[in-house]
Amino acid sequence: MSDPQISIIAPLYNETDSFPHLVARLNAVMDASPLSIEVVLVDDGSRDNTAVLMQQLALTDARYHCVFLSRNYGHQIALTAGIAIARASEALFIIDGDLQDPPELLTEFYQKFQEGYDVVYAVRKKRKESWFKRLAYSSFYRFMRSISYVNIPLDSGDFSLISRRVADVLSQMPEESRFIRGMRSWIGFRQVGVEYERDARVAGEPKYSFKMLRKLAYNGIFNFSEYPVKIVTRMGMFTLGVAILYLIQTLIKKYYYGDVPQGFTATLLVIILFSGIQLIALGMIGEYVLRIFFQTKGRPLYVVREVIREQQRQPLVGI
Ligand code: UDP
Ligand code: MG
Repeated sequence: MSDPQISIIAPLYNETDSFPHLVARLNAVMDASPLSIEVVLVDDGSRDNTAVLMQQLALTDARYHCVFLSRNYGHQIALTAGIAIARASEALFIIDGDLQDPPELLTEFYQKFQEGYDVVYAVRKKRKESWFKRLAYSSFYRFMRSISYVNIPLDSGDFSLISRRVADVLSQMPEESRFIRGMRSWIGFRQVGVEYERDARVAGEPKYSFKMLRKLAYNGIFNFSEYPVKIVTRMGMFTLGVAILYLIQTLIKKYYYGDVPQGFTATLLVIILFSGIQLIALGMIGEYVLRIFFQTKGRPLYVVREVIREQQRQPLVGI
């Protein structure tokens, strides 16, 4: 079989409930489209029935290719595995497995791709999620934009259509702590946003815990900005300035007015304040050191347990 034009990639972690809906929607998209399309589903170490459902599907429908990771690595890594294994000759369409990103938009995205864009990314116009989540996301993207050295578009996630060459570059970036939407912007070429309304999850609970979201946010901040280190330097300079001024004032008071300043509380406050600032500064630098530490290990990003494609089971060694 020749390579398909499009690969649709969806990572799945414990998505038993949304699985049948996903497959139905994907089938409808593939049946209606004149393009040749394959679907790459990545099982990110699910503990529920997802892997079994995927297995059955891959063995009965040759359009579906399934990758099973050896454990739960997280959404960004699962996506990386899917991108690496996709065979599409033209473009890769990246969606969430919970149908929050409507697969039907493929046609519209593909049109833009044909106009010559290498990356067509979705911009969320409306989110059908809680106000707290919306506020958190919206302020994060605005904060990222103000500090990042790459131009990461506002309100866009991983939902996108990327060209073969962008996918190849992504696969060649060995970054351990991955923030794919940032890496995608960094790659460059012509990129364009398409607005859409982000649906609510079709079934089941969100699989991103608060801790995972925080990790993703940290990866965005510390992998795509020098700002934290710069701000530490600036804080240091400011503090030094204040200290010098204070010293001068004290000396003047002492020599001209014979007034030795007192104040246990003030001393304590200053010590506490600056200990806090110093700890934060150490932590920020620590974030970078940690990233260097993990990167220098040079570990593979993930381990594949099995790949099922084209009605054949073939164990995969050494990605
Ligand atoms: N996901 C994954 N591994 C994880 C967490 C999530 O592959 O460790 C998948 C999940 O199954 C879904 C997608 O990533 O298809 C987005 O996750 P979720 O819906 O929980 O994120 P949210 O939409 O809340 O940002
Ligand atoms: Mg979701």
